[in-house]
Amino acid sequence: MKKEKIILTGDRPTGRLHLGHYVGSLKRRVELQNSGEFDKIYIEIADSQAITDNSHNLDKVRQNVIEVALDYLACGIDPEKTTIFVQSQIPELCELTFYYLNLVTLSRLERNPTIKEEIKLRGFQNSIPAGFLTYPVSQAADITLFDATDVPVGEDQLPMLEQTREIVRTFNRLYDEVLVEPEARIPENDICSRLPGLDGKAKMSKSLGNCIYLSDSEEEIKKKVMGMYTDPDHLRVEDPGKVEGNTVFTYLDAFCKEEHFEKYLPEYKNLDELKDHYKRGGLGDVKIKKFLNEILQEELAPIRKRREEYQKDIRKVYQILEEGSKKAREAGSKKIEEVKKAIGINYFEDQDLINSHVEKYNK
Ligand code: ATP
Ligand code: MG
Repeated sequence: MKKEKIILTGDRPTGRLHLGHYVGSLKRRVELQNSGEFDKIYIEIADSQAITDNSHNLDKVRQNVIEVALDYLACGIDPEKTTIFVQSQIPELCELTFYYLNLVTLSRLERNPTIKEEIKLRGFQNSIPAGFLTYPVSQAADITLFDATDVPVGEDQLPMLEQTREIVRTFNRLYDEVLVEPEARIPENDICSRLPGLDGKAKMSKSLGNCIYLSDSEEEIKKKVMGMYTDPDHLRVEDPGKVEGNTVFTYLDAFCKEEHFEKYLPEYKNLDELKDHYKRGGLGDVKIKKFLNEILQEELAPIRKRREEYQKDIRKVYQILEEGSKKAREAGSKKIEEVKKAIGINYFEDQDLINSHVEKYNK
């Protein structure tokens, strides 16, 4: 039988989704969804994972489940083609995580570079919640419970995928070949795989407050773009400027296409020409920011409009999540049976085991 092609990805409901999510993963998910190449597509709103570092701020998680769902629908995720579900509603994920925890060591978890960075960022020092340290294991459960083959994610998720693949190999070797080893799908454009924040910091992130949100208004976007970090030494228009580390140019690298020049900045043919002029001197920050603003407005306006439509019927969005969670649970409960059988904890179905004990004591 041909192996099914299955996608699983997700986001933590710790805030509305931003441009980093969009270029890093969401845009790709919509393209893959519409390609018709996949047999099944799952998108998880990872609330249980968000609890691992928000246990004292649960309302944030509760309030943002619907926000993330609205952002998905706004970007073109279609609940007819994609199962959108809420992680905490699938208890089989906890079950699987519990078994996987025995297949990794503490030191392996502590070596995960993304986790290390996130621990520093959150100031956990010596009081790291155990659930947080082990969330890559629960992510392995998310991916494998649905037999996912493809996981479209940003670059920060590569260590998680590696951890998942290790768990799959260990499990299949120890027990039985029932788990599927997934592949990460990272954006080809390096910048998109890790979009920096408006402040030029390494990553646009909900937790860092350096984001343009997909649901920002036209005015908010403009204000954020006009306040963006450029080259601090580029004081006067005639000064030569740097494009490396200049966030406006980084975003142009991520979003600008040649047709944008024709439309909004016809005196240049392409981004190289614009960069050359900036480096030579004589090109002001305001002009490049206005150009970026036009591009982002064009990309985000249809998303915002679709979001407004869905916002009019919030009950329906909750219903989409409830139905998606039900469907995901059906798939998950089948898989957990397969896993339990592989481990050998299916006592009541295992007639050979029962018969062998009957024989042992009937002698
Ligand atoms: P948090 O700060 O709560 O961790 P986050 O902004 O990092 O939130 P996640 O929910 O952790 O967002 O990530 C969801 C998906 O979006 C992942 O696939 C991740 O790789 C991708 N992603 C997040 N931020 C970026 C970014 N700045 N550039 C590219 N991809 C990103
Ligand atoms: Mg994150």
